[in-house]
Amino acid sequence: MPLPDIIARVRQAEAAAGRPAGDVTLIAVSKVQPNARVEAVLNEGQRVFGENRVQEAAGKWPDFAARFAGVSVHLIGPLQTNKARQAMDLFGAIHTLDRLRLAETFARLAQEMGKCPDMFVQVNTGSEPQKAGCFPDEVDSLVNAARALDLPVVGLMCIPPADFDPAPHFAMLAGMAARNGLAGLSMGMSGDFETAIAHGATHVRVGSAIFGDRTAAH
Ligand SMILES: *Cc1c(COP(=O)(O)O)cnc(C)c1O
Repeated sequence: MPLPDIIARVRQAEAAAGRPAGDVTLIAVSKVQPNARVEAVLNEGQRVFGENRVQEAAGKWPDFAARFAGVSVHLIGPLQTNKARQAMDLFGAIHTLDRLRLAETFARLAQEMGKCPDMFVQVNTGSEPQKAGCFPDEVDSLVNAARALDLPVVGLMCIPPADFDPAPHFAMLAGMAARNGLAGLSMGMSGDFETAIAHGATHVRVGSAIFGDRTAAH
């Protein structure tokens, strides 16, 4: 679907939720997409992108950022501690802070580098065994620990279990953010971003609806 149509749907969902236009940041998830497609979306004016792998982002975004002013790339995939420094250099925001050890590493590097991207704490709202994210009962303590380390924690992020109604997960995340005094909610993908906006999403991560199917992209 063309980018302007996705933006129109975001605006409609904002209005339906009684929220001001532009309240929601659309993150165009460009992972695995050919550069020509990403460039086309940049040419349409999109500036906020999402990538789930540090290596892949490092391969394409420094060039694009040099050519298109105002680009911000957000990390939305799991991060190994040994890639934290590279991630802090590349990304404007990291949505996948999910453990104390990583928070401690970020804090140490932030001191050293004199900068730190915005952080979202990822929550495994479905308590799925294989999935990244802290468990729901760990959120408050991880947020508090990250704040005590002076990390700029701006919100929470979730990826609801596939094949279930995401609405209860969005509601759960919104409740956790509210009780922790966090304004940011990174939730909603191609199939459910309007539902996420109805539940208060401030950042929606939309890939295939903008760029087309990832498997057909090559
Ligand atoms: C790939 C990905 C998305 C985008 O998914 P689509 O269904 O293509 O919109 C969103 N969030 C995360 C964490 C992802 O890895």
